[in-house]
Amino acid sequence: MNISVFVQEYLRGAMRNPGQFLQPRAQRHCPICEYAGRFIDVGPRPEARCPNCSSKERDRIMGLYFRRNAIDMMGQRVLHFSPERPFFRQWKNNPAYIAGDVKISKVANTVVDITNIQFKLDYFDYLICHHILEHVPEDVQGMRECFRVLKPGGLAFFSVPLDMERAHTWEPPAGMPAEEIERICGWDHVRLYGRDFATKLEAVGFHVELIAFTPQEAEQFRLSEQHALSLQGLDRIFICKK
Ligand SMILES: [Zn+2]
Repeated sequence: MNISVFVQEYLRGAMRNPGQFLQPRAQRHCPICEYAGRFIDVGPRPEARCPNCSSKERDRIMGLYFRRNAIDMMGQRVLHFSPERPFFRQWKNNPAYIAGDVKISKVANTVVDITNIQFKLDYFDYLICHHILEHVPEDVQGMRECFRVLKPGGLAFFSVPLDMERAHTWEPPAGMPAEEIERICGWDHVRLYGRDFATKLEAVGFHVELIAFTPQEAEQFRLSEQHALSLQGLDRIFICKK
């Protein structure tokens, strides 16, 4: 058990919603750290976080996929944009792990511009890019760069906030004020993706599939966001093969 993370998550949970600890909760499992027990509420999302590794719903979808496919990132060349903490903790000692972001931070060891990646063609075995492209004005150029640096046969994982009611991605008209765009798309987002997101990934060359799981797995590992304010209720994660 990771005591310091555990204490931190329980304290945070108690500050946000102390009543949650009086409510009976099902036992959940975390496919990343193998913790089994009570998960912690985050804001309006009940049981969103694993108290042992801080994983959230989207992280556990990834963790389940890695587990199911026996994917071990140690020894692999990995480019991980704006890394999720549970994975950063697991992989940071792999010298070929590039935790990239627009600036160096506690969970980023390399500055990487997704629209101009400083690595050569066919370099990475894996690439992970969750909730990044909605912040990037030149998102198609970002997808092209991800495709370029991935090895043939390599896998890239993408997700963005998706409005499944929308067939086509909404791009704001030229000249629209940033505040108006943010009101429509969310904080710092520059567009609102629709169901054509996978088509965009295919257009740069990827073969695209969706990570699938059963309703039982969704319950056991707590993979869906359960709150009314969520745009999608569920993070759809696209596996892209080069
Ligand atoms: Zn965990």
